[in-house]
Amino acid sequence: MTLTEKILARAAGKARVEAGDNIWVNADVLMTHDVCGPGTIGVFKREFGKNAKVWDRNKVVIIPDHYIFTADSKSNRNVDILREFVKEQGIPYFYDVIDDPEGTWKFDEVRGNLQRQYGSRYAGVCHTALPQKGHTRPGEILFGTDSHTCMAGAFNQFATGIGNTDAGFVMGTGKLLLKVPETMHFRLEGKMQPGVMAKDIILHVIGEIGFDGATYRAMQFDGAGASSLSIDDRMTVANMAIEAGGKNGIFEFDAQTAAFVDYRCKLNGTKSTYQPVERDRDEKFVYDLVVELDKLEPTVACHPDPGNRKLAKELSHIKLERAYIGSCTGGKTSDFLEFARVLRGRKVAIDTFGVPATPEIVHDLQTARWGEQTVWEILVDAGVRMTENAGCAACLGGPVDTFGRINTPMNCISATNRNFPGRMGHREAKVFLASPATVAASALTGKITDPREFLS
Ligand code: SF4
Repeated sequence: MTLTEKILARAAGKARVEAGDNIWVNADVLMTHDVCGPGTIGVFKREFGKNAKVWDRNKVVIIPDHYIFTADSKSNRNVDILREFVKEQGIPYFYDVIDDPEGTWKFDEVRGNLQRQYGSRYAGVCHTALPQKGHTRPGEILFGTDSHTCMAGAFNQFATGIGNTDAGFVMGTGKLLLKVPETMHFRLEGKMQPGVMAKDIILHVIGEIGFDGATYRAMQFDGAGASSLSIDDRMTVANMAIEAGGKNGIFEFDAQTAAFVDYRCKLNGTKSTYQPVERDRDEKFVYDLVVELDKLEPTVACHPDPGNRKLAKELSHIKLERAYIGSCTGGKTSDFLEFARVLRGRKVAIDTFGVPATPEIVHDLQTARWGEQTVWEILVDAGVRMTENAGCAACLGGPVDTFGRINTPMNCISATNRNFPGRMGHREAKVFLASPATVAASALTGKITDPREFLS
């Protein structure tokens, strides 16, 4: 069996499963957020009764992150609905934007978009927060009401996005009926060259198979090249499995995975036992691709979809009005460090927005020093508009006052993960997806630029 099949078989209580089998699996964690949480709660109450209790309050994780730092009252209300539900159910893992369980949050005009507007429990973007807060474990099943839930496949976990109806059912029963996906195999070999990042790997892969090339399939990444990737890199790759239509993305378990997961579970006092899955000799794949990492170059997914692949060096004729770094995919500490390495001592030529994925990343950037300055100060000096309000921000547009939202037609280069028309706001804007290094180089020149031009 493949890694995915092994996890699903175990979760179904079966010795073996095959692609195409329909099986009932037990969920280990159900995650929801402010966009889909209220809808999920509505389905749960409608189907199980208004006094129903969730199947296991320790397995429901609620992370407001999408439409948070906005004056839009309907968005604010969504977070209030989550808070009321958590109180009613006694759910311990709720990463509220405020500390007062009886309070409500309102946008503070004085602090504005840049200064911190959250309390001590707020965790930022759900997919980055889940591992940081100790909720991702090898061999487990994670369902989330968000398509990029597949990011947790970096931890040798079956993680996939589900809709509100399915999530309402999981909330009541802890189970879900799933068809076992076929598995596509991506063997990574070699090492990335300077200026090339994990984002380039996944943009290359999606360019090979198309933005629907993995529809309802598992994407398994392994090989020596996969082992050489950091945990952050694996998260970037697994995150974008859905951009090829994948059901999930998954990596092997190794010492790096163990070190990360063990540390985070201990730090947060979450469940620390787990059972990883290993590769079998009889794995059956529907597709095989070897990706030679040392041959990859900085890559861009052009408007209007993540599979529209070109090399950055071929696109220097594309003028830009905006650069954006952030999101679960591109807003991690390591992403900002690569971004800062290119920008250090230089000035951006276009509007450039920086949105760390989580408060912990804000803290990392504000405390990491390169010489006399923190990385945060280096970025601000370079002209980047850095916000302390970690979250999804303009990755998916959001209310019109969302930080970095594209409100007029323009070209934007972005370290995010999706670029269908309207994704970051205006329907006529064009979004070009790239690595943080390519976004930084392009911000310096005002046109799409290969970052190797700025790396000595
Ligand atoms: S940062 Fe973007 S892709 Fe990630 S969860 Fe938020 S909206 Fe979705």
